[in-house]
Amino acid sequence: MPVLEDVNVMEMDRATSKLEEVRENPTRVFVSIPLATDAAGVTRPIGTAGYYTWQNGNWFDTGGNWIQDENQVPQFARDEIAANRPIGRVSRGPAVTAVCQFCAEKMNSSEMEAHLVAHMNETLRAAGQIMDKGERPVTAKNTHRGT
Ligand SMILES: [Zn+2]
Repeated sequence: MPVLEDVNVMEMDRATSKLEEVRENPTRVFVSIPLATDAAGVTRPIGTAGYYTWQNGNWFDTGGNWIQDENQVPQFARDEIAANRPIGRVSRGPAVTAVCQFCAEKMNSSEMEAHLVAHMNETLRAAGQIMDKGERPVTAKNTHRGT
């Protein structure tokens, strides 16, 4: 079942920590106000206004529920979509495009090289600590000199 999505699809740009719009869902909202003409010949709105949202070829009602039968949507709204179908923007800005094969962290591909170097340094540091532990008895012996 189609689900009404946010109009603006945002993703975190890991380089700037800012949200960037990566995609826009083509969306248009129509308001339908039921009108009635009373005995005096005056036309005024009756009942509550209905909202009809068109998104990516699907219709949704006021509550955001999918309208399966398009005939429930007012004709004027359907006509307008047919005549002028919305097209969503797709931005070319930075987006999460790379996943680290070691820790599965997501980031921009431009950050990946530095990230992998950090992993390598971590590994080398860990290896160095193992060597330090092996040499510690010698260091401890040296501190006793002079006392
Ligand atoms: Zn990683």
